Amino acid sequence: MSWQAHYITLFPEMFPGSLGESLAGRAHQSGIWQCTPHNLRDHGEGKHKNVDDTPAGGGAGMVLRADIAAAAIEQVKAQNPDLPLIMPSPRGEVFTQDMASNLAQGPGAIFFCNRFEGIDERVIEAFDCREVSLGDYILSGGEPAALVMSDAIIRLLPGVMGSDMSGEEESFADDLLEYPHYTKPASWQGRDIPEVLLSGDHGKIAAWRREKAAEITQKRRPDLWAKRRRDKN
Ligand code: SAH
Repeated sequence: MSWQAHYITLFPEMFPGSLGESLAGRAHQSGIWQCTPHNLRDHGEGKHKNVDDTPAGGGAGMVLRADIAAAAIEQVKAQNPDLPLIMPSPRGEVFTQDMASNLAQGPGAIFFCNRFEGIDERVIEAFDCREVSLGDYILSGGEPAALVMSDAIIRLLPGVMGSDMSGEEESFADDLLEYPHYTKPASWQGRDIPEVLLSGDHGKIAAWRREKAAEITQKRRPDLWAKRRRDKN
């Protein structure tokens, strides 16, 4: 069974987008995941298929209408009752590797990609949407966020990454950032590859990498380091 990615959007041509290339693209072609965009505009009202209106209470921008969003969600949900409904939003819980891994273990997801100032709050309540944020900045729409989340999930699906090991040693596995990588040439512009990596001593190499990962994590992400210390105790 393929991992099912549904995108409700005003810009269905944005999908699979970057996910049609490279690792995710090959996985798409081989049927490991399936990409189904749904055009929100199909549920719009009147000749112009309007989907938005002015905010109640006044203010700048437009708000996506509850009735129109609900019609689109209900249609996709009816065919996919088991898929979680994710709404990219700067107000949401921050997307993490753990979340990507949990979603990769499930059957798929429905991403509701919003535009405008936002969406009528009643839809979020009525469908118990999971609001998920990429971080503390504002994008112009939910589509790039849905693409980023999907990318992180798809590479974890069985058969997508070349070597099964490559996932386990990456940044955030075990709350550590990754150690530095080197390849040929051994000397480049007066900079040499650390000697231990050329020693052939696998025990020493592993110890050096652990040490570097700890050093980089402590320096760059004291929050992650503290979490790791807490979780270990
Ligand atoms: N007025 C809103 C921002 C709207 S941006 C606010 O101040 O919170 C338009 C849409 O882009 C959002 O509804 C959301 O779907 C998406 N978006 C913007 N920033 C995002 C982020 N950091 N993470 C996930 N989605 C985001």
